[in-house]
Amino acid sequence: MLEERIKLKDISHVLLDMDGTLLDKYFDDYFWEHLLPEKYAEKNNISFGRAKEKLMKKYKMHEGTLNWTDIDFWSREVDLDVPALKEQITHLIEVHPHVEDFLKMLKRHKKKIFLVTNAHYKVLDIKMKKTRIGEFFDSAITSFEIGYPKEMIEFWGKIQERLGFEKEKTLFIDDTEAVLKTAKRYGIKYIVHKIHASSKSSTEKEPTGEFTVISDFRELTPPEDKL
Ligand SMILES: [Mg+2]
Repeated sequence: MLEERIKLKDISHVLLDMDGTLLDKYFDDYFWEHLLPEKYAEKNNISFGRAKEKLMKKYKMHEGTLNWTDIDFWSREVDLDVPALKEQITHLIEVHPHVEDFLKMLKRHKKKIFLVTNAHYKVLDIKMKKTRIGEFFDSAITSFEIGYPKEMIEFWGKIQERLGFEKEKTLFIDDTEAVLKTAKRYGIKYIVHKIHASSKSSTEKEPTGEFTVISDFRELTPPEDKL
């Protein structure tokens, strides 16, 4: 049983990724794969297919870097107002099922809860305004303010300094395996891979089996806390 392997009483700090983990990644996928190519095509007078192809190449070049998370960078790169475009589709921002119950449960158990995201602070703002999960966090940390994305080991040293957690008493949950691998290399003891990042995508990669996997936060709720 999962709750036997990850005992809440052994954990003091819980670090949680935002997109795909707590929130439905469909919003982000729709933005990068549909809305932005559509607007880019209109602007440059090219087909949607051509626009998507060009953008995919650009995305690939900046994946896993701070540029990727910097929406001001993307506004310049594509010459469109990316934050304004994101505002147009905020109705697609959704919290994954049972996330709020999970956060409430952590609060009841007096855990320190931090949102740890590669997202830009402007995107974080949009999402915290749209959902009510912000109130559960002791604070929210963006890789942008740390200076490194979560994929880089430097990120972890910096946030440990800042948050003062012990690696042996920390639980980290994310939907990106590259990030989980870095956290593991750094020495975070409890690592969980949240799958089913998007409610709509059928193209999710199979987990490698390196990490404990959950598809729903109910799996991490101890039986006595199940509502
Ligand atoms: Mg994520």
